[in-house]
Amino acid sequence: MARVVVVSNRVAVPNRDGATRAGGLEVVLRSFLKRNQGVWFGWSGRTVAKGEEQVRELKHSGVTYITTDISRGDFQEYYNGFANRMLWPILHYRLDLVEFSSREMAGYLRGNEMFADRLQAFLEPDDVIWVHDYHLLPLAKALRERGVENKIGFFLHIPFPPPDLLTALPKHERTILSLCHYDLVGFQTDNDANNLADYLTDECRMPSRDRRTFIAGTRMMRIGVFPVGVEMAEFERLARRMAKVTAVREVVRSLADRSMIIGVDRLDYSKGIGTRMRAFEQFLTSYPRWRGSVTYLQIRRIDETVGRVNGHYGEAAWTPIRYVNRPYGRSTLAGLFRSSRAALVTPLRDGMNLVAKEYVAAQDPEDPGVLILSRFAGAAVECQAALLVNPYDQEAMAAAIDQALSMPLDERKARHSTMFKILSENDIKDWGTRFIAALTRPVPVAVPRLAASASSYLAAAE
Ligand code: ADP
Repeated sequence: MARVVVVSNRVAVPNRDGATRAGGLEVVLRSFLKRNQGVWFGWSGRTVAKGEEQVRELKHSGVTYITTDISRGDFQEYYNGFANRMLWPILHYRLDLVEFSSREMAGYLRGNEMFADRLQAFLEPDDVIWVHDYHLLPLAKALRERGVENKIGFFLHIPFPPPDLLTALPKHERTILSLCHYDLVGFQTDNDANNLADYLTDECRMPSRDRRTFIAGTRMMRIGVFPVGVEMAEFERLARRMAKVTAVREVVRSLADRSMIIGVDRLDYSKGIGTRMRAFEQFLTSYPRWRGSVTYLQIRRIDETVGRVNGHYGEAAWTPIRYVNRPYGRSTLAGLFRSSRAALVTPLRDGMNLVAKEYVAAQDPEDPGVLILSRFAGAAVECQAALLVNPYDQEAMAAAIDQALSMPLDERKARHSTMFKILSENDIKDWGTRFIAALTRPVPVAVPRLAASASSYLAAAE
């Protein structure tokens, strides 16, 4: 098999003990690379003065890590500016939060060109290149301009909205249409994939076969769906051993037989934690019989509603909402999930949401908790057996909490086993292999002539 070169903004480079600090994306990529002995290229995590950027190479457990510094100015525009103040809100359907600046867009394109220059120096002709996430949308275009003809795939970990939102991005063809330089573009869900197909068909008038294979100039670009999963069996094993984890034992003891509802989120507006807190407040108002017998544990975010709910409903012996703002080990999280009667996973928009899947993995199949899940999380496609909610509807969320806490054992078991089975069939171990197989699958060589309208559009985008 050809060498796989993974490219992502962040790289989980092991330290001297082989340990790394990593988020969701890095965990997924690391488990793929460990099995495939490839190269992982990206930003070093350091910003330096212009002209002092260094490239470093490190080998560890069969994986080669190559990282580059970025100049402070480029980082500000490429990462903080365009990627996070422009692309992140637009791709999460939040036009109200977008702050466009053409200077930052130029910095974003320059950042990608810099990555392309550095990466090209290490490439071999047979390498298969796999690029990740919204920081690097135009990387293939920059590589193609440098003469790189290797197979290049792209996977977007976050949502991809419909054309009406994409076209609100000034000069959207410079970033969105540049996806056509990849051989394969992968998404978390069909909805995301269809949105790119709609954009290319309706906005750019590009011809396609089945709206999944597009003809872009002299190349073919395919669109695929590759939902990210979790290591179900491994997470279940961790959860089963929860009695051994002191932190979990202490939380369970402190509940004094009350039911626990859990929320675990990164601090980001897309996670909808404010609305969720207000839904919990509404739940205590509308379903007073539960007061005193349910505790909601929100890990990682402090919100002003917390103070209001606790002030209003709290008693000396009962704090309705507990919040904890710190990282936990996998075993502790798994144990806390298993100890919770329900999980509130209610992002306003989420590419996938691994917490939802981890919660299902962690449950005791004989006495499982209930997943309350936003219909706008990518995970909702596989978790139809969850209590699906509209995260903008506080009353419906309050009712879902009541339904989860009252749900009979038979129904809980049925919902859990349905989801566990579906999620186990999409274990993360196969995810990268499936993407690379799709990327390297031979495609027909005959490329039909490009429709005149599409070719002029592409030319105008240059
Ligand atoms: P996102 O990638 O948008 O942050 P996901 O739910 O897809 O959201 O992934 C988050 C990952 O981070 C999950 O694997 C989850 O277990 C982990 N995580 C979230 N909060 C914590 C925490 N406080 N401590 C440790 N891990 C956490």
